[in-house]
Amino acid sequence: MIIQPHTASYYAATVNEVTHFAPLRGDASADVCVIGAGFTGISTALHLAERGYNVHVVEANRVGWGASGRNGGQMIGGIAGEKHVAKHHGRDVEELFGELRWAGHEIIRERVETYAIDCDLKYGYVDVAIKKRHMDDIHHDFERLQKSGFPHEVRVLSREETRVVTGSDAYIGALLNMGNGHLHPLNLCIGEANAAASLGATIYEQSPVIDIQHGDKARVVTDNGSVSADAVVIAGNAYHYLERKLRGILFPVNSFIVATEPLSEDIVAAINPHDLAICDPNFVLEYYRLSADKRLLFGGRLNYFGDDPRVIEVQHRRKIARHYPQLANVKIDYAWGGRIGVPVNRVPQMGRISPNVFYCQGYSGHGVNVTHLAGQIMADAIGGTLERFDLFASVKPFVVPFAYSLSTPMVALGVLYYQIRDRL
Ligand SMILES: Cc1cc2nc3c(=O)[nH]c(=O)nc-3n(C[C@H](O)[C@H](O)[C@H](O)COP(=O)(O)OP(=O)(O)OC[C@H]3O[C@@H](n4cnc5c(N)ncnc54)[C@H](O)[C@@H]3O)c2cc1C
Repeated sequence: MIIQPHTASYYAATVNEVTHFAPLRGDASADVCVIGAGFTGISTALHLAERGYNVHVVEANRVGWGASGRNGGQMIGGIAGEKHVAKHHGRDVEELFGELRWAGHEIIRERVETYAIDCDLKYGYVDVAIKKRHMDDIHHDFERLQKSGFPHEVRVLSREETRVVTGSDAYIGALLNMGNGHLHPLNLCIGEANAAASLGATIYEQSPVIDIQHGDKARVVTDNGSVSADAVVIAGNAYHYLERKLRGILFPVNSFIVATEPLSEDIVAAINPHDLAICDPNFVLEYYRLSADKRLLFGGRLNYFGDDPRVIEVQHRRKIARHYPQLANVKIDYAWGGRIGVPVNRVPQMGRISPNVFYCQGYSGHGVNVTHLAGQIMADAIGGTLERFDLFASVKPFVVPFAYSLSTPMVALGVLYYQIRDRL
């Protein structure tokens, strides 16, 4: 099995520290064994370690190697799939989703403060509108936030105000939300891993799990060792390849990001004077923001399934130039991609494969926020408080036959469908 270093991203190049957790060797035992050291796994482990559990995390590559260390760093509120839940499930599930829309943000804020995690956390975010129907959604969201007593500044922006805060003519309006924000996701993930380790959690890197043996004591097996545990949490999301039962319920959808060279003060003032995260409402969306050192981090889906930085650069450069002609020839220093776990109904998936083997995955593009909440819900479930876990688990995932082996053509078709819908 090939163990991989971090992808060559802006985040990997600006990491506060490189982690060196030793691989798993020999047989260990734990209260809980978590598979995967992304936000889901590390968040779960930190919640459990804070509650005094002996928790071991087994990661195939490095902490934050997957989507958690590669993403847009946009701290977006809300849980994907809310519309599905409102249509197909009872009011209790709908209300729970409503209450939890910003719960992950609070967990991140508390952790950054408690453990002094340096991850460039900043508040301020705009949901931009391209079409009238997006503006209708924005007004609806605004009213909902007002009614719920949302404690942060939220404002509907006119076309001109949106042009000023985004520097782009592409939008007809926006919702400014100062409760959302942006951050350096790899530094957050590593900071949380170090916090968990400081509380006694054991983390193994470079240890791909090759088997999960179910039983009263489940056994998580790697080439060089094993962890026996009372409970196991599978947190491999779109990178998980092991458990057959998880294969047909999640599509691994690629998304790609470029980081430009640091921009001049004049350009920063013209394109994003308030340092906001910007995200459009399309399914095949564009999301962008500035890094702490004032690079433009521009992300979105591409009609591409590889990982060649030159291809990513060429395609994203065109999109950047559409918004910002002054950046048509800007130097691109980093270009990378990663896999997002997308369920057909978009609802995050929590459940069990056997009585003590749990899984948690599939946040679509909202994982920064929702993984943090999910970790708390998993820790609660392991401690026997099942209310929120059971409500999530009650939303049964769609199983798509052959989704695993045919995922690339199926995703291509799915994306085409949504690209057409986005244009309507
Ligand atoms: C390019 C991109 C941009 C995104 N932008 C945003 C954004 O701006 N805002 C937002 O909210 N969300 C965004 N997302 C989504 C978000 O990053 C994810 O939802 C979130 O990080 C998922 O975290 P995770 O821990 O569940 O999975 P991952 O971070 O993918 O972690 C899974 C880990 O499990 C490990 N693993 C898998 N199988 C095994 C095994 N058998 N043995 C051991 N380890 C294993 C992997 O190596 C990996 O490290 C983006 C995603 C991508 C790819």
